Parts: sequence; structure tokens; C-alpha cells
Amino acid sequence: MSDHDFVSGGKPIAIDRGEGPFLYSTDGTEYVDAGASFACTPLGHSHPAVVDAVKAQVSKVTFVDSSYPVQSREDAYAALVAATPDGLDQAWFCNSGTEANEAALKFARSATGESKIVAATRSFHGRTMGSLAATWKDEYKKPFEPLAGDVEFVPYGESEALADVVDDETAAVILEPIQGEGGINVPPAGYLETARELTDETGSALVFDEVQTGMGRTGSMWACENAGVTPDVLSTAKGLGNGLPVGAVAVRDWIADGAASHNATFSGGPVVSAAVHATVSTLVEEGWPDHADEIGDYLVDELEATLGDEVREIRGDGLLIGIELKRGANRVARDLAMDHRILALPAGRTVLRLLPPLVIGEDEADRVVDALTEIVVPDAETES
Ligand SMILES: *Cc1c(COP(=O)(O)O)cnc(C)c1O
Repeated sequence: MSDHDFVSGGKPIAIDRGEGPFLYSTDGTEYVDAGASFACTPLGHSHPAVVDAVKAQVSKVTFVDSSYPVQSREDAYAALVAATPDGLDQAWFCNSGTEANEAALKFARSATGESKIVAATRSFHGRTMGSLAATWKDEYKKPFEPLAGDVEFVPYGESEALADVVDDETAAVILEPIQGEGGINVPPAGYLETARELTDETGSALVFDEVQTGMGRTGSMWACENAGVTPDVLSTAKGLGNGLPVGAVAVRDWIADGAASHNATFSGGPVVSAAVHATVSTLVEEGWPDHADEIGDYLVDELEATLGDEVREIRGDGLLIGIELKRGANRVARDLAMDHRILALPAGRTVLRLLPPLVIGEDEADRVVDALTEIVVPDAETES
């Protein structure tokens, strides 16, 4: 909306404030946030536990670099490592998802001494030169080439294709346990296990990018837990600080021990650390991943019952939901926002993506279902 912003692409809704699963525009209109914030607010907007923790920390000490022990950073590390699968006992904080994946790839290369990165078609890992090299879409890459090299792409979800390329020269296999940006693509059962077996055999690092799938969204704290597969490096960001800019990688000891020099000035700053500690502990203690599982099932059941044959497919897990439409997703997202005050996201040309805060209730879920029914099902309006 700003005259000076040449990147973001404005939407005609000026946001004034947020509370729980709702956003309010400057004219006081209430919107259900069904994905507007890209999964960055799992606990809902301006959650009191996070707000209070951040306020207290910002006035106590806003910043001191990570070579000085600070309680909020110690608490954030402890909470994150306790919340990640067993075996991922060390961690490093950064500022975003792309930076977490940059670190993941650098750590994997230095720990293995190899350079080849295996990534999947339709992947999204971020937009800095290294993460971008492992991202699929040419549109994001071409104008910026040459990017970091030695990346080989294989079709997502195909175990045999993975077996063909993962070898002794492979530093890392990087995968989203469910692809987000690429269209909410759920791999077939056994795919992540195969990736684990192949990387074990070749001594390569298995990197799971949980930037979008993590923080309770799929009904477990991390999507890899649903598949029972623990990677060597797990990257996270988006919801990690409930809206504050922070990312992290959690790693196995062999990765930490083999990691060459890497750091960032703002790594684990006291304020974002306070947000991480509050977010992770609230999510875990209050059982929000279980709620995501239940409400996600409810939402998908209702969507399937009412949208039926008017959509091609509804897929995902928990509150990471993709609806494959028979028409353009951009237009449906616009109608949802302008006519029904529901904010959702496209993921590709025909997939509508629902990523509401995990605190969404049945009432809000019903509002999403009713609105989509009116938009997608012919004559629905006259029936209701
Ligand atoms: C959003 C996203 C990223 C990039 O995160 P940024 O914080 O925007 O850099 C990386 N991987 C996945 C799976 C994402 O969804």
C-alpha cells in the first residue's frame, strides 16, 4: 500500500489490529485469518503470553549478542530442544526461514565434506542465494542466476527417483515433509522413511524444512513426527516466535560437531528469544497441536461434505489444508476476502491454502466453510 514499496503488492485492506484468529481493518471490519499471515501466528494474533514476554524483555535488555548468556535465550534453546524429536539436541537461532535453510545446507556440507544437494520438484526453501538454489520454481530463480551450485532435483514423493541420485557425494537431501508453497503436497507413505534410509546408507544429512509444517500445525509439533522419521537437521521459522522474526535449526550431534564457522549478529536476540520461549511453551503446555488435529479434521470433513464434486481434491494434515479448485485460486481468495471477510492464500494457480492460527474454533471454521460453499457451489446462496 505504501507509495515506496516496490515489492509487496498491496491488498485493499489496511490492518489495524489482531486478536486470536481475527484481524481488524482500520474501519473496524473483522476478518477471519485463515492464512493471511503465512502460518506465522500459531497462537493467534497478539497472544497475551507472547506480548507480555516480549514487553518485559524489550525493556529489560533489548539486545546483546549471543556470546553473552542471557536467560531468555537459554530458555528459548531449552524449550526448542525439548520440543523437537529426540536426537535433535543442539540448535542455532537465526532470523528467518531462508536463513535457517542456508544454515542447514552449510552445516550439512561442512559436516559431510560433500557438496551435492538433492531437492524436490515444487519445493520452496526461501529466497536467498543458497535456499533459492534448492527451490524449484524457475520464476523465482532465473533472474538471479548463477545461484549456489550442485543441486539436483527429483520428483517429490517418488522414492525410486531419490534412490537413483542419493550417493556418497551427497551432502544433504532437503525436503518439506508436506510441501506448502508448492500446493500442499502430501508424499505417499514410506517416502520420508526411504529418504532416511538412503541418507543413512550414504552418510548424507537428511534436512527437513519444517518452516511451514512445524509448530503444531499438522497435529504434532512437527510433521516428521507423524511419519515417525527424525532428520539430521530440522529447520523452522514462520510460527516460531508467533509473529516475531526468528528461525532456527535443530541438529544431531554429528552435524553440530562437524559444523564449520557460521553465525549471525542477531542470532537468538533476547527479545525474539522471549517470544520463542513463550510461543513454544504455550503451544506444548496448552496442547494446541492436538487441537489443530481435531479442528483440522472437522474443517476438512465439513469442506468435503459441502464442496463435494465442486472441487478436485482437499488435502493436507491438521490445519495445513489445500483445496484444489476447478478455477483460479487468486480469484477465490479475493472473493473470500472482499465478500466474506475471510483471509486465505493461494498456493499455485488452482490451490487455495488454509493456514489459520491453531486457536481457530468451530464457529470460525464454519464461517470459512459457508463462505467457500457460497463461492464454489452453484445455487448455494439460494439454498441457505
Ligand atoms: C516460507 C518458507 C520458507 C522461507 O521462509 P522466510 O522466513 O520467508 O525466509 C522456507 N521454507 C518453507 C517451507 C516456507 O514455507
